[in-house]
Amino acid sequence: MSTSSDTSNTALAPAVEETYDLVVIGAGPGGYVAAIRAAQLGARVAIVEKQYIGGTCLNVGCIPSKALLHIAEEYRRFDTMAELGIMAQKPDFDMAAAVRHKAKVVKQLTSGVASLLKANGVTIVMGRGVVDEPGVVTVDQPEGTRKLLRTQKIILAQGSVTAKPPFPGIDGANVIFSTEALELPKVPESLICIGGGVIAVEFACLFNALGTKVTIVEMLPSMIAYEEPEVVKQLEKTFKKRGIAIHLNTRVESIGDANGQKTVTAVGPDGPITFSAEYVLVAVGRGANPEGIKGLIDRGLAMDRSRVVVNDKMETTLPGIYAIGDLSGKTQLAHVAMAEGEVAAENATGQEAHMSYAAFPRPVYTFPEIASVGLTEAQAREQDPGAKVGTMPWVANGKALAADATEGFIKVIVGSYGEILGAAIIGPDATNLITEYTLAMHGELTVSEINETIHPHPTLSEALREAVLAADKRAIHFYQRK
Ligand code: FAD
Ligand code: NAD
Repeated sequence: MSTSSDTSNTALAPAVEETYDLVVIGAGPGGYVAAIRAAQLGARVAIVEKQYIGGTCLNVGCIPSKALLHIAEEYRRFDTMAELGIMAQKPDFDMAAAVRHKAKVVKQLTSGVASLLKANGVTIVMGRGVVDEPGVVTVDQPEGTRKLLRTQKIILAQGSVTAKPPFPGIDGANVIFSTEALELPKVPESLICIGGGVIAVEFACLFNALGTKVTIVEMLPSMIAYEEPEVVKQLEKTFKKRGIAIHLNTRVESIGDANGQKTVTAVGPDGPITFSAEYVLVAVGRGANPEGIKGLIDRGLAMDRSRVVVNDKMETTLPGIYAIGDLSGKTQLAHVAMAEGEVAAENATGQEAHMSYAAFPRPVYTFPEIASVGLTEAQAREQDPGAKVGTMPWVANGKALAADATEGFIKVIVGSYGEILGAAIIGPDATNLITEYTLAMHGELTVSEINETIHPHPTLSEALREAVLAADKRAIHFYQRK
């Protein structure tokens, strides 16, 4: 896998010196949220960013991928419109226009974040930050100047970088990673996704909807292996129905070229197997980016491989130094990075805050969407043999039927005391709906509070209550055998 280089600052123009209470390194969702929160609490804050405000998430991650997924989902709707009485011809697809829309969304959001930072009084310092010792950050700026920032506290938020496996052929033409997949000049005729994790399933769904012949090659027995197996099975079924080929238990070993196509050689359950396509998307994970902190590591900053070790206050093992987001790597999710950013900012400015990972949502933006929180059924049963499961199929929900979105279900796992141990949804608007169960878990509500809450009708949200009722074998809107 690739690692980031960490060259120290060599001779540059003499340093301009500035003083702050807090310096944040990296302006991704972890870093910019931390900077704003600390400024709200009265700290004099600078944020150092080497490439782009908004980080991976806003520039080449969450936001651009969701912009293109949205377009692909809209385009796919033409396939089923006739059933709804809309007799439209499927129009042509203009990839360049879609990429322009994506770029517009990214620009609007990243400029918005830059304005928010400024409005909150945060100083933006563009350049690569290096921290060799607590209290001092040096920044080499693109124009060739060096700034030296003296500061009480530092929050490290350098995020993560795409893993580049050492496959022969990895550097060949038409071998792309998620960033390039967001900028393709045309819709690929065919695409092999190496890996069946979140990035691969989102892009597989996107390009399949645009007409690409997609093949997923995953070395584990399941795509998105951490997810509730029943939910992944449903996604697999849906993908296969749409023509996506899925090869599980198949480990990729090399990439090559033959007959004007890319080839991917793997070892599957029946031995060696070769796939071919126009493009290969490599999506085998992302690694933490401990860039610019070699000096701190030499001073004893505790690391777990490339991740910075932190406690629940986001404190590292060196005083005055915090780490958050993909760099500390408890998960690799933007909303978790943001939550950690707030916790770190509060602790760095003299408050007391602790991070809890008991209830954070795990969204996947395929169509249908997937979202889960807490434990899977198997994990819950290990912890609480008396746990009960309620399952609500979307086909029993009026709003889903009306919207022609009945694929999938809600599954909720209820503990012996009526508490929610976990939930997984596959279906319409799953990534928004999961918030109700997340709030219930975070607030330690029991199913009684959900049952006694009147949900509006007809909505998708009433199905969340119905699933909870189903755990007690008292569903109203579909029949459950006793
Ligand atoms: P980052 O966003 O990676 O930001 C780190 C910043 O630090 C970067 O701007 C970098 O330039 C800067 N930096 C690094 N080193 C230095 C240095 N030495 N000096 C100055 N600056 C430096 N997550 C979700 O929750 N939902 C999604 O839908 C989602 N979709 C994704 C789709 C894709 C294609 C990808 C790749 C990721 C997606 N993620 C998603 C993951 C999400 O992007 C990350 O979890 C999130 O960006 C982590 O935030 P962060 O602030 O820790 O780091
Ligand atoms: P991932 O870890 O989710 O999946 C990588 C997959 O590649 C794994 O399933 C792994 O078994 C497989 N793999 C590895 N080597 C292989 C090989 N040689 N042959 C075949 N399969 C192989 O990583 P990702 O999909 O690259 O995503 C990176 C991170 O980005 C994730 O951790 C995720 O949190 C974040 N992300 C989140 C979202 C979201 O929240 N919706 C979207 C995109 C990305």
